[in-house]
Amino acid sequence: MKNKDGFLDAAGVNTRLAHLGNDPADYHGFVNPPIVRGSTVLFPDAQTMVTENQKYTYGTHGTPTTDALCDLVNRLEGSAGTILVSSGLAAVTIPFLAYLGAGDHALIVDSVYFPTRRFCNGMLKQLGVEVEYYDPAIGAGIEALILPNTKLLHLEAPGSNTFEMQDVALMSAIAHRHDCIVTMDNTWATPLYFNPLDHGVDVSIHAATKYPAGHSDVLMGFISTNEKHWKKLHDANRDLGLCVTSDDAYQVLRGMRSMGVRLEHHRKSALEIAQWLEGRDDVLQVLHPALPSFPSHDLWKRDFKGSSGVFSFVLKAQEGRFKEHSHAFLDALSIFGLGFSWGGFESLAVPVSLRDRTVAKGPTEGPVIRLQIGLENVEDIKRDLEAGFAASAAI
Ligand SMILES: *Cc1c(COP(=O)(O)O)cnc(C)c1O
Repeated sequence: MKNKDGFLDAAGVNTRLAHLGNDPADYHGFVNPPIVRGSTVLFPDAQTMVTENQKYTYGTHGTPTTDALCDLVNRLEGSAGTILVSSGLAAVTIPFLAYLGAGDHALIVDSVYFPTRRFCNGMLKQLGVEVEYYDPAIGAGIEALILPNTKLLHLEAPGSNTFEMQDVALMSAIAHRHDCIVTMDNTWATPLYFNPLDHGVDVSIHAATKYPAGHSDVLMGFISTNEKHWKKLHDANRDLGLCVTSDDAYQVLRGMRSMGVRLEHHRKSALEIAQWLEGRDDVLQVLHPALPSFPSHDLWKRDFKGSSGVFSFVLKAQEGRFKEHSHAFLDALSIFGLGFSWGGFESLAVPVSLRDRTVAKGPTEGPVIRLQIGLENVEDIKRDLEAGFAASAAI
């Protein structure tokens, strides 16, 4: 093909997902890249070896398989470079380690993924970094929290479990005026529904464990940066000695070929279920950014190209008996699994705890339950949830 790259730059997202990454011509026409396992890479002579003047030099520094995945992610993100790490959590902690040092101050959104908070309160503080949590609805108010030693602003939108949106462009612009690096956990939207770097973010973070892998069988994280912040991240990752296996990179690349169609199905089903829940008397509130009733819906509508399959709702419950209602609901489900994570093909439900919150403490009127809507038929998902509501009502 003469100008495949140029063609793909202008192509739709499913076309890009189907063709970016490896070039079949590099491997005898096979559509998928080989899984290259290896630590040692040989050099043809001493001079090449001492100058490390060849594309691959050692297993920890990348293989044709990991490169194929990085290339695909870079093209989707518009990033200067992408690093693959062993989990989504590592994709958050490694940039923090790369960009923060003793005496620095970091601003973290209060609706952050809980293990990110645990890392900040534990290891970051131990390293001498001051950590402060801010209200996800703060918007321009973030400027008042920026101190002379503030080095990093971390966004996550929608927030974990409660799905608050953030004004990414506005907050990034303010942070940059004060020389702060902006990182964003974009796991919910994936690069298909939101591109953080196009809205001023410096470092875009994804738990590839979720929709990119898509089958609840691989753990991985992506960290993608703009040109300015690439070298520092690259060097930190090299110095920490982190890498993923080509086997895992292959699995995630494979997952991403169908991510567009899977996500579209998750999007449609989840929205249909969210609207159906919103009309029920036994549901007090549905926390889904694509619903017009959601408080920060306008930001979602302005910035995002779609919504994914995870959202929460507040179950109607008797005062003082929230846990009984929540557990009765969850225990009555058949096809919804009770398990952490999301982004796989199957529906999951989790009782949400907001005990860790310091600012964004709500909602508090009833137990919050988070749903990942899988690829099952919507009628069956509804039938399963009906059983949950019946069990809760019987309390
Ligand atoms: C799941 C998740 C992570 C962590 O991903 P793992 O691969 O499970 O470590 C990070 N951020 C968000 C928003 C997540 O939902």
